[in-house]
Amino acid sequence: MTETVCEPKDMAWIEKGVLGIEWNDGHNAVYPVRYLRQQCPCAACVDEWSGARRLQPDDVPLLIMLQDVQPVGRYALQFSWSDGHDTGIYSYSFLRRLCQCDVCQPVKLVEPRSRRLL
Ligand SMILES: [Zn+2]
Ligand SMILES: [Zn+2]
Repeated sequence: MTETVCEPKDMAWIEKGVLGIEWNDGHNAVYPVRYLRQQCPCAACVDEWSGARRLQPDDVPLLIMLQDVQPVGRYALQFSWSDGHDTGIYSYSFLRRLCQCDVCQPVKLVEPRSRRLL
């Protein structure tokens, strides 16, 4: 199987805290930024040897903000977060798999704390 090389063509905010990336294959991908931060692939967040995730979802502040995006070569993006973390390098293929649109993720992740606040 050949994997097509995807590259971001355009980037825009879909709504507050939700980043949209248009890929060169025409797919409009959807990324809630807190989810992106939780998936950070850097050595501080993921154990390099075992691949186990060190960063727990609740470690990420609820109101995390994306402060900067830098291209890394022609294969990845580096995000800087409002919690001071900026070591995560998200390769295009990794990012593409993280897409949370209805087509890529027909079954939504349910946040455990989605209980209504009365
Ligand atoms: Zn990280
Ligand atoms: Zn998608």
